[in-house]
Amino acid sequence: MLFPLVGTWEMRQISFSHCAIGISARHKSNSTYQYNIYDMKTIEVVAALIIKRGLFFAAQRGESMAHSMSWEFPGGKVEPGECHREALARELFEEFKIKAYATDFIATRETIEPERIIKVHLYKTIVESDTFTRTEHAQFQWISLAQAYDLTWTQADRAFLDLIGGVVESQKSLYEALPEDFDALPTRPRGAHIFRAVQKPWDAAQNPHHSIGHKTIQILETEFDASKLEIDDAIHAPDGTTRIIFRLHDGLKIETIHMPRDVKSPRVTLCISSQVGCAMNCAFCATATLGLRRNLTASEIVQQVICAVDAFGPSQSHAINIVFMGMGEALMNTDNVLRAIDILSHPNGLAIPPVRMTLSTSGILSELPKIQNAPNRPNIAISINATTDETRSKLMPINKKFPLASIRQTLADWPYRSHEKVLLEYVLLSGINDTDDDARRLAQFALRLPHNINIIPYNETPRDTYHAPTPDDVQRFIRILQDAGCLVTLRVARGVQVGGACGQLLAKRAKQND
Ligand code: SF4
Repeated sequence: MLFPLVGTWEMRQISFSHCAIGISARHKSNSTYQYNIYDMKTIEVVAALIIKRGLFFAAQRGESMAHSMSWEFPGGKVEPGECHREALARELFEEFKIKAYATDFIATRETIEPERIIKVHLYKTIVESDTFTRTEHAQFQWISLAQAYDLTWTQADRAFLDLIGGVVESQKSLYEALPEDFDALPTRPRGAHIFRAVQKPWDAAQNPHHSIGHKTIQILETEFDASKLEIDDAIHAPDGTTRIIFRLHDGLKIETIHMPRDVKSPRVTLCISSQVGCAMNCAFCATATLGLRRNLTASEIVQQVICAVDAFGPSQSHAINIVFMGMGEALMNTDNVLRAIDILSHPNGLAIPPVRMTLSTSGILSELPKIQNAPNRPNIAISINATTDETRSKLMPINKKFPLASIRQTLADWPYRSHEKVLLEYVLLSGINDTDDDARRLAQFALRLPHNINIIPYNETPRDTYHAPTPDDVQRFIRILQDAGCLVTLRVARGVQVGGACGQLLAKRAKQND
C-alpha cells in the first residue's frame, strides 16, 4: 500500500502530467475510482495542497514513489526545467524525488482540453486496475465538477467526490478576498492597496500610484485563484443596454445586463445573476426553464460587476446601482450574495453603497432574517405577481410555502431605514392577473407599507403561453393603484431588442441547441 487511508478511502495513486492530475482511490467496498482533472490551475492547487497536507507521507520511499507518481510529458523524456510550470515541477521533483519519464501512452494521447475548464473524469470499476487503457478512456464522458455533483452518489462515494471537490475548490478567489486577506502576504503594497487594484483594475491601469507591480501579481496568482469570468458574448441594444453573457470556469453561462442612463443623475444599473438557472419554477420565467445548475460563488457575483464596468463603463461621474434581478433566486444563495455585497460596498474597492443595491426575491421568507441582520443591508424587492394565493401558487410554486399573508406580515414588521421602501414587483400578464379587482387587492396589500409598486408588462415571446397586456390595460391597472394612493412606477422595458427579460436569451439559445 503506497498511500495512507484517508477516511474510508485508500489513496492508491496520484499522477501528474503536463495537463492533468489523476487521482485513483479505492473504497473499502472495493470500488475503485479514477479522477482526472484537466486544468493547469487546478493541478497546481491540488499539488500544492497535497504537499502542504502531507498526504504523501510515503514520499520518503523514494523509488516506489517514482513508479506511483509520474511527471509525464508528451514527446519523450524531459527534465523539470523544460516544463512550462517550472516552479511546481521543481517543487514536486524535489519533494518526492520523482523521476521524469514519458510513456508511449502519454506520448500518443491526444491533446485533452483547449479550455481552462475543470474537468473531472470519473469511472467506477469493481475490478482492480492500476492503469486505464485507451479503450476505457474513450468510453467515459467528460463532465464538469458541478455536473458530477448532480449525479446520484452513494454516501461513501459522495464523500470521495467531496474530498476531491473540496481540494479543487478550496483555493480562495482573488475577487472574493477582502483587504485583510491580503495583509498577511509578503508584499510591499498593503492589503487595502491590493484590494483596490483587484476590485478596480481600470484605476491600476490608468494610474501608476494604484498599480501593484509584477512581483505582487505573481504572489497573488500563487496564493489565490485568479481565474476570471470570460465575456462569451455582448449584445448591444439601440437604447444603450448591453446584455452580457459570461462564461464561468466550468463552461456554464450566465447573463448580466448593463443599463446606462444619462438623463438627470447619470448612473449605470447592473442587473446581475446569483445562480446558474433557478429552481423556483415560476411559470412565466425564462430562467426557470433552464432548471438550477448551481449557485454562483461570491467571486462570480462580484466579477460580474468588475468585468461589466471594466468593459462598458461607467465613467467616474456615474453612480452604480446593483439589482439582484438576473438569473436565480438570490435568497437560495444568501451567504454568497451577502459576501458579494460586503465586497462591492467596501470603501477601499468599488464602494457601492448598500442602499444602491436591491435584492429581489420570490419570497423566501425564512432567509430574510439574514438580510435584516446583515451589516451591509441591501434594499429588498418582492415578486408579488398575483393577488390571490390560488393564482400566485399557480404562477409561483413557492407561494404554497410562503403565502401572501405571511409575506404581508413580514413586510409590515420589516425594520425600514428612513426613506427605505420595499419594491413590490408585479409582472402584468394579460387575462391572468390584470383585472380591476387584482389592482384593488394589490393596493390593499401595499397600502400602509412604505412601498413602491413596480409594474412590469410581460415581455412576450413567440409560442408563449402568457401574453403581454395592451398599453391601455397597463394604464388602467396603474390608474386604479394610483387612485387608491399607491406609489407606482412602470418598468420601462430596456434591451428588449436583444433578448427580453433576464434569462430569456440563454433559455432561447438552450432551446435552439436541444
Ligand atoms: S422569476 Fe426569479 S425566482 Fe422565479 S424562476 Fe425566474 S429567476 Fe427564479
